Amino acid sequence: VNARIAIVGTGFAGLGMAIRLKQAGIDDFVILERAAEPGGTWRDNTYPGCACDVPSHLYSFSFAPNPDWSRTYSPQPEIREYLRRTAERFDVNRHVRWNHDLLDATWDDEAQTWELLTSQGPLIVQFLIMGTGGLSNPSVPEIPGIERFEGTMFHTASWDHDHVLDGERVAIIGTGASAIQVIPQIQPTVAHLDVYQRTPPWVMPHTDRRVTRVERALFRRLPFTQRIVRAIVYGLREIYAVGFTKRPAIMRGAARVAKSNIDRHVSDPALRATLTPRFEFGCKRVLLSDTYYPALAQPNVEVVTTGIREITAGAIVTADGVAHPVDTIILATGFKVVDNPANALLNGREGRNLAKDLLDGKGAYLGTTAHGYPNLFMLTGPNTGLGHSSMVFMIESQIAYIVDGLRRLDRVGARTVEVREDVQVAFNGELQRRMARTVWSTGCASWYLDADGRNFTLWPGFTWEYRRRTRQFDVSSYDVSPAREGVVRGDVSSAHR
Ligand SMILES: Cc1cc2nc3c(=O)[nH]c(=O)nc-3n(C[C@H](O)[C@H](O)[C@H](O)COP(=O)(O)OP(=O)(O)OC[C@H]3O[C@@H](n4cnc5c(N)ncnc54)[C@H](O)[C@@H]3O)c2cc1C
Repeated sequence: VNARIAIVGTGFAGLGMAIRLKQAGIDDFVILERAAEPGGTWRDNTYPGCACDVPSHLYSFSFAPNPDWSRTYSPQPEIREYLRRTAERFDVNRHVRWNHDLLDATWDDEAQTWELLTSQGPLIVQFLIMGTGGLSNPSVPEIPGIERFEGTMFHTASWDHDHVLDGERVAIIGTGASAIQVIPQIQPTVAHLDVYQRTPPWVMPHTDRRVTRVERALFRRLPFTQRIVRAIVYGLREIYAVGFTKRPAIMRGAARVAKSNIDRHVSDPALRATLTPRFEFGCKRVLLSDTYYPALAQPNVEVVTTGIREITAGAIVTADGVAHPVDTIILATGFKVVDNPANALLNGREGRNLAKDLLDGKGAYLGTTAHGYPNLFMLTGPNTGLGHSSMVFMIESQIAYIVDGLRRLDRVGARTVEVREDVQVAFNGELQRRMARTVWSTGCASWYLDADGRNFTLWPGFTWEYRRRTRQFDVSSYDVSPAREGVVRGDVSSAHR
């Protein structure tokens, strides 16, 4: 065994996990990261206008508050810098093997270890913790002829900063969270911008503002004041969960606000109609912007709603046969979510593969463990995504659960741990039953849903419920094995609590 634990990824999840392990006195771990520096999402997404859409006081580690956020919704460079600094401050970089792309992970039932294959060679570990991210693999649409395009083309998650868009004819495909941040930034300098919209999103007015010097000084001198702000932000965001998961009807008021956001900024009735969503508020990610609609209303912008038929050497051809000449195509087409390639890397007991198991609707347990995959923990695994609050809150809940689990397993000298099948089945039954009442199921099709319309992406409730359920590692839900033979079912830990 090369190390007791391997963590994969250095975004919020991987870094947070490493920090908490160190604080728990567990030091025997390596971190594998395919890139050359930390930051995950916030290292890769450098497109103009990139920022978080959950307030920074909440969208940061609870154990590493940053009194210096410049804005209530901080821009990407600050979040990236925050993660870089946090990694340094807690001295986790010396555990990281940079440029190590995990290519395969196979459970060896004989040796009770994970055999990892990385781009730099093999590695054997006892525990594997996946912090590979839910939105870390860009999705590129399969448009006929896309490979024939002779202009410039890039995805928002790998922005080409050497390429100057000024004066160009630019097309942006997609109108999701990234697109609405990019468009207002590039519209003023491009000659012409075609925005290819399949479904108009709901866009609420933004409440982003500068954090004043006085506030920052207060947060620095009296840290509890920032904790109070964080708690208030947290509480307010949870109100959304009521609308999303319990009573979609109460979102009608929010929908009216979003509609008036269009009316305020767009005077052309045809464009207003084009931009007005026809699906229920909240069933796709609700976006925030004060600048998106004003940008779309400018004379150098056209919102194209006809589907794309093909791409030629110098144009995008829509289904009506019209060729739209273009110099640069920006793919704002999101990420591989339900088909996250990280799942396909994981091979469990008896030839299981996680991607296949998820396709078969098996889900996971608390988004963290899966039957058939001993000693595997996933951060931001199935059904831990949120439409309304900070993913860092979910990640920290999972981290606490895993640290508690490793401690309890240590105490009983356990070698392997695997969630019981009946526990996982019951958990998923409950989730999918609750999911049926949510706006994501009743509202529309979205990237949250798989091909069969099931939602293995989001958590169908309040985040505090998730926090409560992950507070302690429930050993009785697991088969725990101290040695190769003789699996001890259940509650070995109770005597040691
Ligand atoms: C543009 C954008 C804006 C967002 N804004 C918000 C927001 O406002 N609020 C919010 O809650 N969430 C937001 N999110 C979601 C965001 O992804 C999460 O909040 C969070 O950053 C996820 O952290 P992570 O560590 O799980 O994943 P990531 O940040 O994606 O990190 C995963 C890491 O794993 C590495 N990795 C992946 N696969 C491998 C492999 N096979 N081998 C080795 N290394 C690998 C990657 O290189 C990366 O460093 C946003 C996402 C995007 C893309």
